Amino acid sequence: MIQHSFADGPQPGEFEVPNGSTVKRCQSCGAMITWVTTAKGNAMPVDLARLRVSGLTSYGRSHFATCPDAVAWRRATRAVIQDILK
Ligand SMILES: [Zn+2]
Repeated sequence: MIQHSFADGPQPGEFEVPNGSTVKRCQSCGAMITWVTTAKGNAMPVDLARLRVSGLTSYGRSHFATCPDAVAWRRATRAVIQDILK
């Protein structure tokens, strides 16, 4: 099975990052992130350090997974985390 590395859509756990997204800093750890909106309408911080470019689209993974202060995140955004784990 060949793994296509272009224009293949989001992988599990990835979120599409719109072009021109605003760069922010995580208020907990200072990492560069941007905010996307999940399919369920929740705001989600995405790691800019781990963006994957596929064709003309960028995909990122949740900053919740790498933030050293993720415990605090989870407390504040439990509903979002539960969406990811589904
Ligand atoms: Zn952080």
